[in-house]
Amino acid sequence: MTDHDRSTDALRELVASKTPAALETLKELVRIPSVSWDGFDPAHVQASAEFVAAKLRDLDLFDEVVIVREQQATSSNYGQPAVLARREPAPGYPTVLLYAHHDVQPPGDSAAWESDPFEPEIRDGRLFGRGAADDKAGVLVHLTALESLTEVLGDDFNIGIAMFIEGEEEFGSRSFTTILDAHTRLLRSDIIVVADSDNRTVDIPSLTVSLRGNVAFSLTVSTLAHASHSGMLGGAVPDAMMAAMTLVSRLYDDKGGVAVPGLTGYSAPVPEFSHDELVHDSGLLDGVTEVGEGPILSRIWFQPAITITGIDAPTVQNASNTLIPSVTIKVSVRVAPGQSARDAWQAIRTHLEATAPWGAHLEFGEPDLGNAFLVDTTGSAVSLELDALRDAWSGTDPVLAGVGGSIPFIADLVTRFPDAQILVTGVEDPASKAHSPNESLSLAVFERAILAETLFLTRLNDRDH
Ligand SMILES: [Zn+2]
Repeated sequence: MTDHDRSTDALRELVASKTPAALETLKELVRIPSVSWDGFDPAHVQASAEFVAAKLRDLDLFDEVVIVREQQATSSNYGQPAVLARREPAPGYPTVLLYAHHDVQPPGDSAAWESDPFEPEIRDGRLFGRGAADDKAGVLVHLTALESLTEVLGDDFNIGIAMFIEGEEEFGSRSFTTILDAHTRLLRSDIIVVADSDNRTVDIPSLTVSLRGNVAFSLTVSTLAHASHSGMLGGAVPDAMMAAMTLVSRLYDDKGGVAVPGLTGYSAPVPEFSHDELVHDSGLLDGVTEVGEGPILSRIWFQPAITITGIDAPTVQNASNTLIPSVTIKVSVRVAPGQSARDAWQAIRTHLEATAPWGAHLEFGEPDLGNAFLVDTTGSAVSLELDALRDAWSGTDPVLAGVGGSIPFIADLVTRFPDAQILVTGVEDPASKAHSPNESLSLAVFERAILAETLFLTRLNDRDH
């Protein structure tokens, strides 16, 4: 093996030669409709787990490849199958855990898809299909980077590799912590690469260094023991809808910012993001203004946000002239990095109880809590990864990005492996539309992501340890 074979240019050529076959394998995987939600056939998730396990075994570099199912943390039900694998490092070398997930979101409104969600199709340099980006492309990035690594270094390279290809990320990672506990031996690692995020654009790579946490709960607002005719009693007693809407309005200030004492923000520089880009991404209607204050990305990445995502109340079609006794709403809170989900939950609950109008009764459902995530960007793995991204994107500097959304399992990884450096990389770009109809993967990003990971692993192996 010469130095030339592992030079950036040689690896670029190698990865370019491997990408077409990787794309074919990705298509095969997309054809398996591995929706992990209840009500969808779990046989498909099992089939995609078996597909991934077979590909990992074909690499012939792991000591062990297993498919596991474990109990969910909050019930006695078993979760969906995950694929785990491990090869031990040479003494003194680090182990890298490569994470992705093989399950997908449901296709949603099938009429809104321009091609069959489970029959992948290439149009305009993009592969369309459910899971084409999120996150089956992540699985193929890992597989192809390992294949390239083995080709360059031979199969007796020094770093250890662990694999965790989850089967229920899109259904709340309910058995994630049980898997971590039951299979710590297979998963223990020094560096964790989570390939499930996105890039600033097709041409600008990102390393995700912060994620907002989340708190989601249902809240039932009640004011009356029973329904009454609104003509007989309306105007003298509050109905539950009036109380619920008044209560919700007290979560926001006049500018639409969050007005809950104790919900904190975080401060760090953010890239420029224009109002026009925001309009483009969000579909903001003519004349509708932004909410909140400060740079746009600071609001999205580093400030809390509160959204009412659902309401149980009579439908318009069934509406009668009735004072509604009780209304249930679903509240979704994005928690800024730096605040724990539990603290945020306390703050919002205290605020709601303190501001409930007319003595309305509140009943809170059990909250779902996911902690925010903030990377220590001084870690050595971060600089190695930033160099790999820059080289894979032909010299373009990567963005240290925040993400407004949450990946709650990352907090679980931090808890279980507190000393590991976590790198959140991605194969998506703003046009990927993960979770929506017409989800797609940029083929250019796919190749660059494979190259970046190949460079990262090769250089990590070659670095002095
Ligand atoms: Zn995902």
